[in-house]
Amino acid sequence: MLDTSALIMGLDPLGLDFDCYSVPQVTEELRQQTGPSFRLHASASSGKLKIQSPSKASLTEVSDKAKTLGDKLVLSPTDTTVIALALDLRKQGETPVIVSDDYAVQNVAEELSLTYQSLATLGIREKYNWVYYCPACFRQYSTGATQDCTVCGTKLKRKPLDKVATKQRGS
Ligand SMILES: [Zn+2]
Repeated sequence: MLDTSALIMGLDPLGLDFDCYSVPQVTEELRQQTGPSFRLHASASSGKLKIQSPSKASLTEVSDKAKTLGDKLVLSPTDTTVIALALDLRKQGETPVIVSDDYAVQNVAEELSLTYQSLATLGIREKYNWVYYCPACFRQYSTGATQDCTVCGTKLKRKPLDKVATKQRGS
């Protein structure tokens, strides 16, 4: 489960295909988290994930906007960076969609007229086929029906079976 606003989708003008963007801070934060790291790695290695840092101008714009929304909105430095990158992408003519379940992120995005969607809405979790495996004896399980290895009792881990089934750009 992604617990930071990790991704921005940059839709093409027809809305048929998209690239994923994220900021260096997110990959740093997710490095220790098995599931999301796997996903980011899978995306990056398939060329769909672009790691970029936003411009200072956009960072300032996002910070200022968050301040005007009041003290209740706590935007982490990473969240600020992600929203700022979305702003940059819009200035470059893309149609960015911020993917986040975070209330503060969604509010600031709305104030900046940026589009956002929650992970649940996108059904991102359902896009992945997981394979469950025992880290001790390496038996594989096709479902998460059991939490522990039926042979040695070790708690099962999981990893994505396939890369995300998104269309490739014809480049
Ligand atoms: Zn086992």
